[in-house]
Amino acid sequence: LPEYAFIGRSNVGKSSLINMLTGRKKLAKTSGKPGKTQLINHFLINKNWHLVDLPGYGYARVSKSTKKTFQKFITQYFEKRKQLVSAFVLVDIRHKPQPIDLEFMQWLGENMIPFSIIFTKADKLRPKAIENHINDYRTIMLEYWEEMPNYFITSSTKDMGKDELLNYIGDINKSIT
Ligand code: GDP
Repeated sequence: LPEYAFIGRSNVGKSSLINMLTGRKKLAKTSGKPGKTQLINHFLINKNWHLVDLPGYGYARVSKSTKKTFQKFITQYFEKRKQLVSAFVLVDIRHKPQPIDLEFMQWLGENMIPFSIIFTKADKLRPKAIENHINDYRTIMLEYWEEMPNYFITSSTKDMGKDELLNYIGDINKSIT
């Protein structure tokens, strides 16, 4: 089955987003404790694709060696996955573009791994601020890329962006089967 990988910094709202997408409450446990999602979890969605939940990267309070281990783990996943169609890189809409996220996207690009950006926690900003933050992102992205990558604006507390994401993935799946 086609696979879509979800990844981002710890605490970006990945577990909440996965819960929103799967429509279940207890699969991916949300917790205030960053770095909790340490292993790869697979979720079967609509019986025709797998959502792959990758460990959060870049949590500031773990040791360098832990970071290295995570990096290796994530790299190995991407090197091995034949089923992977696309990655989704989650970023908190409130934050300015972070080097670690930009570097990771750069790395995906170098390795020819398609990706979209998911802006999370959109309920925390007014529409105008969302627009401004995305424009900041676009400006920085255009320094490295020819165009702004495909992106989604989501809020797990407001159930926002769910249909767009699921339809997007559904359409790709239709086109590849
Ligand atoms: P993870 O570490 O990336 O899996 O992040 P979690 O899903 O555990 O979320 C981290 C924190 O952000 C938790 O306190 C969540 O309640 C909160 N959070 C996650 N998504 C949203 C959202 O869409 N809106 C708001 N307001 N808070 C969110």
